[in-house]
Amino acid sequence: MHIGLHDSDQTGFPNLALMKISAWHKAQGDTVEWWAPMFPFDRVYSSKVFTFTPECAYLPPDTIKGGTGYGIYEELPEEIDAMEPDYSIYPECDHAIGFLTRGCIRRCPWCVVPKKEGAIRQYRTWQEIKRPDRRDIVFMDNNVLACAHGIEQMRSMVGQNVRIDFNQGLDARLITPEIAKLLSNLRWIRFIRMSCDTDAMLDVVIRAIRMLEECGVKPYRVFVYLLVQDIASAERRAIALREVGAEVFAQPYRDFENNMEPTKEMKAFARWVNHKAIFNSVRTFAEYDTHKHAVVCDS
Ligand code: SF4
Repeated sequence: MHIGLHDSDQTGFPNLALMKISAWHKAQGDTVEWWAPMFPFDRVYSSKVFTFTPECAYLPPDTIKGGTGYGIYEELPEEIDAMEPDYSIYPECDHAIGFLTRGCIRRCPWCVVPKKEGAIRQYRTWQEIKRPDRRDIVFMDNNVLACAHGIEQMRSMVGQNVRIDFNQGLDARLITPEIAKLLSNLRWIRFIRMSCDTDAMLDVVIRAIRMLEECGVKPYRVFVYLLVQDIASAERRAIALREVGAEVFAQPYRDFENNMEPTKEMKAFARWVNHKAIFNSVRTFAEYDTHKHAVVCDS
């Protein structure tokens, strides 16, 4: 069979589901290529992670679609999920990706994970995910610290020739002095990430940053995702985290259920925070907004 793969999002980040589908079809003796509208394929798979990615109008009507972006939450069939990812379809990817755990213990109202993945559970070991010829692993776990298996896996990576990233962030509420010590003993690709999505989380995140600092991790090595809904709240959190020296990254809220775009104000706020030179020199969002309007009116 001639199989076509379509990665709707084109983020540059490899799509794990498509890599597993590719591996499974190649194991059946099929030919697998990226889908292109002018060529015939026996079967086409399209994955879409983000709801805001526009749907491709040219895909064949019988395309097999998957991913949160299509509103489809089903997991891959077991035999496909069991495959090792086919990294050859993303030749620029120089690390392994995968999950140690699936699911989450929490039910944050803005998040699709509880609906999509359910309760936290053990999934893979780091040795199963690591590529034999690469030392970097990007884990996409949603709440690895909430699972004993996840913590055990992290312990077993200490002293190994691996550098890691948990790109969905760690749950700051679960960082204790003992966990901070463990995190400080691991080798990180660049950042230890966590999220500060509400005012209530601010003290918790700052406490976690302090615990890490006591174990020798500088605050600038901590990357904090900041959900932006209420601007005043997001600004309080952004400024407080900048003061402790963390790397802050603002993410405007997108309503996945109703497919609603963030407001212009949320996008402007994210531009202020995420442009590091501006964020570090323009102290408040009001100052940034005033300056931006002055530039537009003068030009
Ligand atoms: S802790 Fe993270 S993954 Fe879990 S429900 Fe909340 S936002 Fe989603």
